Amino acid sequence: MHHYHNLTYTHTTPRSKQSPKQKPKKKKINNRFSESSLFHRLPAKMIAYLEHFVHGNDAESRQDDTNDDVVSSLDGLEITTATASAGKDFGGTKFSKPLAVIRPSSAVDVARVVRAAAATANLTVAARGNGHSINGQAMAHRGLVLDMRAMENECFRLGGENGLRYVDVSGGALWEEVLKRCVSQFGLAPRSWTDYLGLTVGGTLSNGGVSGQAFRYGPQTANVTEMEVVTGRGETVVCSEKQNSELFFAALGGLGQFGIITRARVLLQQAPDMVRWIRVVYSEFEAYTRDAEWLVSLREGEGFDYVEGFVFVNNDDPCNGWPTVPIRPNQRFNPVHVPSNAGPVLYCLELALHYSHSDHPSTVDMEVDRLLGRLGFVEGVKFEVDVSYMEFLLRVKRVEEEAKVKGIWDAPHPWLNMFISKSNIAEFDREVFKKIINNGVGGPILVYPLLRSK
Ligand SMILES: Cc1cc2nc3c(=O)[nH]c(=O)nc-3n(C[C@H](O)[C@H](O)[C@H](O)COP(=O)(O)OP(=O)(O)OC[C@H]3O[C@@H](n4cnc5c(N)ncnc54)[C@H](O)[C@@H]3O)c2cc1C
Repeated sequence: MHHYHNLTYTHTTPRSKQSPKQKPKKKKINNRFSESSLFHRLPAKMIAYLEHFVHGNDAESRQDDTNDDVVSSLDGLEITTATASAGKDFGGTKFSKPLAVIRPSSAVDVARVVRAAAATANLTVAARGNGHSINGQAMAHRGLVLDMRAMENECFRLGGENGLRYVDVSGGALWEEVLKRCVSQFGLAPRSWTDYLGLTVGGTLSNGGVSGQAFRYGPQTANVTEMEVVTGRGETVVCSEKQNSELFFAALGGLGQFGIITRARVLLQQAPDMVRWIRVVYSEFEAYTRDAEWLVSLREGEGFDYVEGFVFVNNDDPCNGWPTVPIRPNQRFNPVHVPSNAGPVLYCLELALHYSHSDHPSTVDMEVDRLLGRLGFVEGVKFEVDVSYMEFLLRVKRVEEEAKVKGIWDAPHPWLNMFISKSNIAEFDREVFKKIINNGVGGPILVYPLLRSK
């Protein structure tokens, strides 16, 4: 029997996402590698004490002078002391100014910076992808931030092994760009995604990287066969399941604490042309999880290609309620269909089926009907659209653009991500969804049905 996890995003206490993949016990390669690792390990009171004690004393001033010398010694690299943007992140609740931001053009530059920092007491380094962490994970207080986006075009190479196609991409590449280049140049695409693609390859591989494809292919960390990593000693090492495997599994989901990913080999699949994108609604949690569990148990080619969902409030709140369910602005949620005994929250299952231009429309309709016919969603509350594969994968970009226009994209995002096992999910619904956050959280509460085996 597969175990069932739900990963939810809620706007409460921030916590970083970890790779669901099993990896060796965390062992720090370099104790000074990043300050954030130290802070994560200390109890909160201890953090406050250390900050109070250390700030502004002579030792720190002397340290800053030494660190300035290190920065000066990195001549030839693109270094900026205009550090404001690297001192904040998408979460908007943590701020920490680095000493300098370095824009590496290659793994050689990254290694040089790490070596210089490793040779200097208390000088920390953090890789920054696109800075979309929520809890300061990509920051280095008074340390060096490596802006990995600077090397985003450093590598883009198609290859194949054991009958599988892959692309070698830079750790600083944005997934959005990887998608566009893979589809336009090769008609291929990575298999496992995040919902939002304005994130870097190195950034999501250092976390996990999940979306509605993870039930089938696992998180993005399970779809990488090789990486080039700069270790805490400044050595550039190629690693995979077979070669330097401890480093490979530590760096995947390792929040940059085991090395900096400069290149990743990402598995590809044939890119479909089109997607039938569907949302159906449930008033009963039991029916919702039963259907989600059935859908994620189906083999490739027998079920939907994407299974995800969200919890929303059973009222007309524009941010958390019925209006958040329709896919298109011209679609309307009609609450008349919601059973009168429904609780304070409702559940949406979001599904997608890939198809190609050569498929006859009736074949697609039949397949969708066959699958939906087995589900117990609330009759009359179903939304569906046909979109290009690219439009489907870039769907959150539209949300981003709208939020930017409204000026809310840069608001604080104290998100929480958690894994909940199948055995606890009903209780979680009863105690948390229905009792604690039954008025919503001012944003999405996403649910990802995942299989532990992936
Ligand atoms: C709008 C939005 C939607 C999101 N949707 C999803 C989603 O659907 N699924 C999901 O799984 N996650 C999602 N996330 C979370 C996201 O995957 C993580 O926050 C991810 O770390 C962000 O990538 P980034 O490139 O901005 O990394 P950063 O925030 O810059 O860095 C994240 C961590 O990785 C480290 N790091 C960065 N680059 C490297 C590198 N090259 N080598 C080693 N370590 C590195 C950093 O030091 C830091 O610890 C979302 C985040 C946002 C803001």
